[in-house]
Amino acid sequence: MIQIFSRSDRDFDEKLAVIRNRGQSLDSAVEKSVGEILEDVRLNGDEALKRYTQKFDSVDPETYGISIDAGTVEACRSEVSARQYDALQRAADSIRAFHERQRRQTWIEQDSVTGNILGQRVLPLDSVGIYVPGGKAAYPSSVLMNAIPAQVAGVERIVMVVPTPGGEVNPGVMVAAHLLGITEIYRLGGAQAIGALAYGTETVAPVDKIVGPGNIYVATAKRKVFGRVDIDMIAGPSEILIIADEGADPRHVAIDLLSQAEHDEMASSILVTNSSKLAEKVSVAIEEELALLPRQAIARKSIDDYGAIIVAPDLLEAARISNLIAPEHLELAVAEPFWLLHTIKSAGAIFMGYHTSEAVGDYVAGPNHVLPTGGTARFFSPLSVDDFIKKSSLIYYTQAGLEEVARDVEILTAMEGLDAHGRSVSYRVGDGT
Ligand code: NAD
Repeated sequence: MIQIFSRSDRDFDEKLAVIRNRGQSLDSAVEKSVGEILEDVRLNGDEALKRYTQKFDSVDPETYGISIDAGTVEACRSEVSARQYDALQRAADSIRAFHERQRRQTWIEQDSVTGNILGQRVLPLDSVGIYVPGGKAAYPSSVLMNAIPAQVAGVERIVMVVPTPGGEVNPGVMVAAHLLGITEIYRLGGAQAIGALAYGTETVAPVDKIVGPGNIYVATAKRKVFGRVDIDMIAGPSEILIIADEGADPRHVAIDLLSQAEHDEMASSILVTNSSKLAEKVSVAIEEELALLPRQAIARKSIDDYGAIIVAPDLLEAARISNLIAPEHLELAVAEPFWLLHTIKSAGAIFMGYHTSEAVGDYVAGPNHVLPTGGTARFFSPLSVDDFIKKSSLIYYTQAGLEEVARDVEILTAMEGLDAHGRSVSYRVGDGT
């Protein structure tokens, strides 16, 4: 059963602290094993990749190899129905349209008096690796969400890695890649996939940045290779927090909570409500709906271990609690969501009103579904075109422009004791005796 608690409980603060610390406690066993896998891949390349892929994904390296070739991808087209293909295409179109609005432009400006020029040049990254999760479920939607912003940014080399348990490729994932024209695909998952993208192996050339969600092994590996390559964020086990008032349908709330619980045993699903009546009804509806789910075992463990219903005195307090938790997905299932929105500070994506189930954002609305988890929405943002660009500052000074600032540069460089800095300007303005 999902736990229900409220401010009046003596252990309220401790229970809230457990939720707030989710994803923060480093699992030392996972840390150790991920460290070993990364080092092994760095030193032993393809041989290590094959060994781990056989061990964790039961893929026979002799039968399958590391790359997924164009023929295998093409063959998947016939396994996807026309309706499925069209739905993927429509989702891709709305994701592209949303991300087109995020494009940044190079800008350049000249001072009309001095002639100095300042600006910022924007260029795409050369190469990125996109991690598409595939251990417990397959995510064609994650192919679209990861790759489309990279394409909008203009990234030339997009490499996809995806685990293929038992050697089976997921047709939806392959068709999504085909639809976007992604051709460099490897059957790799977990820490070994991240190691291959970061360090490179005989088969996989390294990339500049790794993006995409994954389980705790993937998230830990990304954190460890940061600096060698860039990463987008730590997007670990999924989360939903729903703020609901008495007008919310308890069954809708229960199903939306389960929509995240079914991802992962470590997913967290939390309801914060000002109605104890709704809290009771949602708790009952969760049990009824759980019984219907094919992924019941995963969802049950997630609800029991990481689920919670918190009864708050009012919606403002509910919003305060939500801000402390900083969830990946936040639903405002209340009568006046736009009013409540002003009180929300930290959430990866915000779904407003009784009709906006989180699933529309996962698939078709257009905004990205790769979102910060574990409370990192306090400082991370959704995956976007910004993740796939780099910026350079542009600075051009004229003689007149330099003369105007020379004195200040000399004073500031003297303050820091950096003589060569000061003289580099003094000499140019004829003051370098
Ligand atoms: P995954 O692809 O992330 O992980 C599978 C890999 O984990 C395997 O290939 C294996 O290498 C590794 N692994 C498994 N057990 C291991 C062990 N004992 N030691 C070392 N490595 C091990 O697939 P998954 O497990 O299904 O997890 C997907 C995750 O992605 C879920 O947590 C889900 O919630 C999350 N997700 C998030 C989003 C998002 O946008 N935030 C979207 C989709 C999925």
